[in-house]
Amino acid sequence: MPANRKERIAKGLCPNCGEVNDRAPKYLCSSCLVSENQRKLIWAKERVKAGLCPYCPRPIDIDGPYCSVCKEKRIQRNRRRRQARKKMEG
Ligand SMILES: [Zn+2]
Ligand SMILES: [Zn+2]
Repeated sequence: MPANRKERIAKGLCPNCGEVNDRAPKYLCSSCLVSENQRKLIWAKERVKAGLCPYCPRPIDIDGPYCSVCKEKRIQRNRRRRQARKKMEG
């Protein structure tokens, strides 16, 4: 990790490539974000192929792209979101 990372951020540059960060104050510039996302996607695919959950260290123990714990979390989050929306619509 380069020592000038903080300096780059302070100057409004992307800490990853050193170019002007067009997404500041977000951490990465848009081009680094794209490659970062692609890397994460590949990583997640590799995990799923190996039978491991892409969101946590657990193995996938249900029929789906993630483990039962993460599935439960997603369901609860969706439920909360739906309830919040209902409240707003009133
Ligand atoms: Zn960058
Ligand atoms: Zn999981």
